[in-house]
Amino acid sequence: MSKPSTHSGSQSSQSSQSSQSSQSSQAWYQKGLNFECTGCGACCSGPDGFVWVNQKEIKAMADHLNLTLVQFQQQYLRKVGQRWALKDQNEEGDCIFLTDHKCTVYQARPIQCQTFPWWPSVLQSPRSWQQAGRHCEGIDDLSILHPIEYIESEKQRYEESRRKE
Ligand code: SF4
Repeated sequence: MSKPSTHSGSQSSQSSQSSQSSQSSQAWYQKGLNFECTGCGACCSGPDGFVWVNQKEIKAMADHLNLTLVQFQQQYLRKVGQRWALKDQNEEGDCIFLTDHKCTVYQARPIQCQTFPWWPSVLQSPRSWQQAGRHCEGIDDLSILHPIEYIESEKQRYEESRRKE
C-alpha cells in the first residue's frame, strides 16, 4: 500500500486558485474521469505522505470521538512545521485511524481524505493521474464516470480546506 506523496498537500493553492477558470476550459479531463472508491485503504497508507488537518477538521474528529481538543492533539496529531497532520501508526505510514482497511473516523474524516483523488497534484496531467492509479485501484475503474463539473468542485473544496490550515 502507498499513501501518495501528494498527501503532503504542499501544492500551491494560490497558483491553483488564480488559474482555476482557465484550467476549467483547458483541462485534459474535459470528458470526465472514471473513479470509484473500492474501500481498499491504499490512500490512507504510505511513509512519505501526510494527512493535513485544519482546526475545523480537528474539532470535528475530536467531537466524533468524544475527546477534548487537548486529548485529541496528544493522541492523534503531530506538528510538521507550522501545520498539523495526523500521526502514522507504524513505519509503513498507515494513518492512525486506519483499521482493517477501514477509516475509524469515516464520518468526520478530513476533507483531504474526502476529496481524493480530486487533488490538483493528481489532476495535473494524464501522467500524474496514471501515477496515482498505480496505488489506487479505484482510479480508472470504469463503473462511474465523474463529469468535469464534479471534479472541479471537489478540487476547489480540497483547495479551500488547505487555505484554512
Ligand atoms: S482519516 Fe480516515 S480516510 Fe483519512 S487517511 Fe486516515 S484512515 Fe484514511
